[in-house]
Amino acid sequence: MRLERELACQEVVELVTAYLEDSLSPEDRERFEEHLVFCDGCQNYLAQMRDTIAATGRVPPGALPAGLEERLLEAFRGWRAS
Ligand SMILES: [Zn+2]
Repeated sequence: MRLERELACQEVVELVTAYLEDSLSPEDRERFEEHLVFCDGCQNYLAQMRDTIAATGRVPPGALPAGLEERLLEAFRGWRAS
């Protein structure tokens, strides 16, 4: 029996660093990946994070360039409203 709950985009954004560092629990990791299957926004976000890490060799400490998080969350809100 596992918790059946979908992650919200904002939770994915918050978990992406842990995901990329492979520090999520198996359950959280599974939910994270399930979310990515149907959410293009979070797929793009994850790809962007991977590119950043590939370019810099590490997870950026603030996780996001200034302004990007706000733009993403705005976009997420738009998708959820539609
Ligand atoms: Zn999402």
